[in-house]
Amino acid sequence: MEKIDVAIVGAGLAGLSCAYKLAEKGFQVIVVERGDFPGSKNVTGGRLYLMPIKPLINDMLDEAPFERKVVREQWSLFGKEHSINIDFTGDRFRAQDHSFTILRAHFDRWLSEKLTAKGVFVIPKYRVDDLLWENGAVAGIKAGSEEIYAHVVVASDGVLSSIAEKAGLRPKMAPKNYAIGMKEVIELPEEKINDRFNVESAEGCAHLYLGDVTKGIFGGGFLYTNRNTVSIGVVAGIKAFMGKTPPIDAYALLDNFKERYEIKRLLDGGNLVEYAAHIIPEGGYNGISRLYGDGILVTGDAAGFALNMGVTVRGMEFAIASGVIAAETIIHAKERGDFSSKTLSFYERRLKETFVLQDIEACKEMPEFLENDDFFVFYPERFPGFLEKAMWFGESPKGKVGKTLWNELKSSGMLGFRRLKELYRIKNL
Ligand SMILES: Cc1cc2nc3c(=O)[nH]c(=O)nc-3n(C[C@H](O)[C@H](O)[C@H](O)COP(=O)(O)OP(=O)(O)OC[C@H]3O[C@@H](n4cnc5c(N)ncnc54)[C@H](O)[C@@H]3O)c2cc1C
Repeated sequence: MEKIDVAIVGAGLAGLSCAYKLAEKGFQVIVVERGDFPGSKNVTGGRLYLMPIKPLINDMLDEAPFERKVVREQWSLFGKEHSINIDFTGDRFRAQDHSFTILRAHFDRWLSEKLTAKGVFVIPKYRVDDLLWENGAVAGIKAGSEEIYAHVVVASDGVLSSIAEKAGLRPKMAPKNYAIGMKEVIELPEEKINDRFNVESAEGCAHLYLGDVTKGIFGGGFLYTNRNTVSIGVVAGIKAFMGKTPPIDAYALLDNFKERYEIKRLLDGGNLVEYAAHIIPEGGYNGISRLYGDGILVTGDAAGFALNMGVTVRGMEFAIASGVIAAETIIHAKERGDFSSKTLSFYERRLKETFVLQDIEACKEMPEFLENDDFFVFYPERFPGFLEKAMWFGESPKGKVGKTLWNELKSSGMLGFRRLKELYRIKNL
């Protein structure tokens, strides 16, 4: 049976990055993608952190179609009728290439064209249905009537990876391990974006929202500026959705979010150019699948490599890094002439030496911590409420502001034992 070196399932960032590294070493690689083109089925909020992956990628992202460099961070707490906004910028963020906004339909397509120029076959419109086996080891892929034999199969097929499941590396997951994200891309003139978000051209803003955005469900909103579009969306935990009575319509969350006073004026006059919905892994460290088997490796979302840190969602740099490290592993395995799980276990060892498994492990307690409703209901309602009390000058005498706030604080329950204990847990995150 003639075999190619590597068959990669899925042309997202994990699959493409793996192929890129292998192509540099002259490996025979194919990437099979079910979408019309790489990027057509890939969804992200849109912010890629570059620093962690720099040591791994060499020139891979030179001349990449980044939208804007993020130099402004904003976080908002949305109560039902009021909100607080924190706005941060720093010289370091402007001076260095810390993070960029991207649009996957452009970005992934660009990367796959770069791969094609290096001799990699990226085959769109092909859905891999099954794995081929030989003596108990994975030996290739099956797409319709086509069979492709390979020394190693890389499962880069995203969050609901059927390939990892078929290889027996991933158990069926529970709803609490997933969130759903709804996203729109809205076109606005570049100068309007610069003015409304207080940035120069090529500079961008990343804005995250907690509170009434998700109507009490675990999750939040995001808004990222691109060159002449903005990406806006809402992410919400699937288990929390299922528990809501009366049920909440997922898409209505995004509609309501866009109708908020604080948001509406930012989008005014914009045209909707793209809409997408997608699942996000939320299981954290405990949601990670087995990462290797005989003849197979699992990368990116397929492995569960994503991190919701409350103040930001990270997945893309994990996808890229795990793709590159999977390629390093395959190079090592080819040198040994052995593609068994024993040699491929090098992958997990390398991941443990990098931010991929170190960061996800460090945030092990995050999923459970974020299950606390207080972060999505209580604090977003109370904090803006305090400020309203301080800022409001009505018909009756104002009295002592400090005393009013202290009384509010005491009666709110914020200083109660349970809440203080919860806050104390922050040190473990
Ligand atoms: C709403 C939302 C907001 C997010 N925000 C951010 C953010 O701001 N920053 C960040 O870093 N991360 C963010 N993430 C997470 C990030 O987008 C993912 O972690 C990342 O896209 C994972 O890349 P991947 O290559 O592993 O998977 P994907 O990009 O999902 O690629 C998987 C590919 O496999 C293909 N495929 C699947 N099955 C098959 C099959 N059987 N045969 C052939 N092809 C197949 C799919 O079509 C797809 O192209 C967000 C995610 C969502 C949904």
